[in-house]
Amino acid sequence: MTYPLIQRELTIHVNNGNWYLRPIDNTSILGPVDYGWHRYRTYPDSFTFGEGLLAGSSIPGSRRLVFSGWSPQWDGFYISSMGGAAYTFHGVGVNYVALRGKAHETSILLLNHKQGEIQVRLEPVNIEALWNGYADPQGRPLLGFFALQQALFDRYASEYAPGKIRICTVGPAARHTNEGIIGSSPYHKGSLSGVVDWAGRGGMGSRLLQNHEIAAIIFGGEWDDPDLRDSKEIDAYFMEHFGQKTIQTDMALTEKYRYVPQFETGGTFGVNMREMNERMMSFNYTSIYHSDEERLKQHKDFILDHYLAQFNEETIKTRNFQHCGEPCPVACKKMNEIYKKDYEPYHALGPQIGVFDQRAAEKINDYVDAMGFDAIQTGGTVAWIMDLISSGIIQPEEFGFPPADQMNFKFTPELSEFDLINDSLRNADYAQAVVEAILFDPKARNFREGIRNCSEKLEMKLKNSSAGAVYLPHGEEGCMVPNQYWVAGMLSPMPMMGKYYVYYEGKFLPPYELGKKNVERMTYELFNDNSGICRFHRKWAETITDEIIMAHFNIDLNYKKHQFELAKEIYDGECSKSLAGFTERTIDLLLTFLQQWDRFGLKDEVLKYWLNRFEEDKYIAAGDWWAEVKRGIDDAFNSSADLIPDMLTPGQADKLKNS
Ligand code: SF4
Repeated sequence: MTYPLIQRELTIHVNNGNWYLRPIDNTSILGPVDYGWHRYRTYPDSFTFGEGLLAGSSIPGSRRLVFSGWSPQWDGFYISSMGGAAYTFHGVGVNYVALRGKAHETSILLLNHKQGEIQVRLEPVNIEALWNGYADPQGRPLLGFFALQQALFDRYASEYAPGKIRICTVGPAARHTNEGIIGSSPYHKGSLSGVVDWAGRGGMGSRLLQNHEIAAIIFGGEWDDPDLRDSKEIDAYFMEHFGQKTIQTDMALTEKYRYVPQFETGGTFGVNMREMNERMMSFNYTSIYHSDEERLKQHKDFILDHYLAQFNEETIKTRNFQHCGEPCPVACKKMNEIYKKDYEPYHALGPQIGVFDQRAAEKINDYVDAMGFDAIQTGGTVAWIMDLISSGIIQPEEFGFPPADQMNFKFTPELSEFDLINDSLRNADYAQAVVEAILFDPKARNFREGIRNCSEKLEMKLKNSSAGAVYLPHGEEGCMVPNQYWVAGMLSPMPMMGKYYVYYEGKFLPPYELGKKNVERMTYELFNDNSGICRFHRKWAETITDEIIMAHFNIDLNYKKHQFELAKEIYDGECSKSLAGFTERTIDLLLTFLQQWDRFGLKDEVLKYWLNRFEEDKYIAAGDWWAEVKRGIDDAFNSSADLIPDMLTPGQADKLKNS
């Protein structure tokens, strides 16, 4: 059955509380990224959020809420999405919301849909008092983001029908830094679930609070969507392409995030930690200077036998799996008590800061979450600071950090002497003291400006202090600590880094080819982001989302071309902000990635060429490598979407193989 495409946007001027609802008549807007980019180009001060066209369906993973706007952390346009939140947002009865202006006092924004009417209101809130402490229903003390979220739930939940409320809010990092995130817990049986989903990269929480003076958005409602109710219709698409119904297909194609029987683990933490092997990055990336054998030993002794073993025992064996707030059989949220174990935060605020024990990792990750920080960015920054202190390059007291010997943290240890439990805990405690100082101690104010700005300033005072800071610079002041994969793709000049708009498989590609592949990946990742689909479902989403949307809404359009054109527009608008200025350790990360392939015996003339270039002068070679990746990106965007191969379903791929 086809259904007319009707989309509505809600624009709210938070400076005066005026709002209006309009139908979207721009036919090129088919999703929240289209909408956010369009608003950003028209009104650069806009902050938007919205759902994908399938949010009213029963398709698992189709209800992410996508935030976008100018990011203070990246100094450019950014997209950050939150799992499951559109499941509740859908009840408001609008597709997209755009905020403009700045409230006169710190406020919360309430959106509701009751008795056929949309309600919008702003209310002032004293966030500092709530961040300082609030108790949960059992009387346990909460801090920062968690405290504010609970207080708002207690205050406003009764305005919403049970289960039809979600609170997106921020922590102190949003006030004091550019790295504040937006978090939200789903509703569960009358209270807030222990799972928290984050729009975790890009500093969108800082953006919301500092530019709009909005500390929380509470939404929900009772809008009844008549569309996409027919699960038979959805099943038919899956049957045609995968030979199985929706849920069966989804279960088969999301194994990594659910449970992998042959690995006896699951989720991003379980699978990535298991698979890391000699690509282990630890102690602020200094492990890249060790031999493969040393890294393998560290992986076995520290990760497989302890960090991962604990996780498997506590989380996998007990099947403590939850979902993000929308019914999803993948249940990728791997829990231990109140702690959610995802690979990237538990790596950046794990091995990178010398933490290899779950108790220590839970402690530091929970604190950073409570402060509402981007955990990957914070992990990279704190690892660099601990490296600086332990190498004696800075005196911690000068910057408000505790004296190193007072807490006795171990950052450049003889690994045979590293006590996995006690030293991990000491390192986590020191990391927490550093984060606390960054937020609240005036002596640490330069570090509050982020790893790039601070390392550049520090370098003027202390030669070589910036060498170990690993980040991707962007624009005049922005930067991103790269995602925690030791691959060349994660250092690419794509318009949004810190996401997965890159080729990041652990394989060597010549830089020009890598650039082209990045464009392909960005195009397909937009099948997910621009459709509000969770990328953990990408194995089917990138194959049939186009067909479902085009057929159901009777739209005649090449969806791949549409996402390609959007990616190209974003690239054209933003590419002048990409910078090649890598620090020495970032260059070494790239160089050692290439050297590994040489050691693995890859015979490739292009690899040989680049290794020679790096041997001559690694700084010049890194700049040239970066330019070559960029040339590949430029050429791919300047050619046609037709050159991007179609995603094939298993049946189609088999047919092709046998033809
Ligand atoms: S895979 Fe995880 S984040 Fe994605 S929809 Fe399912 S539960 Fe939510």
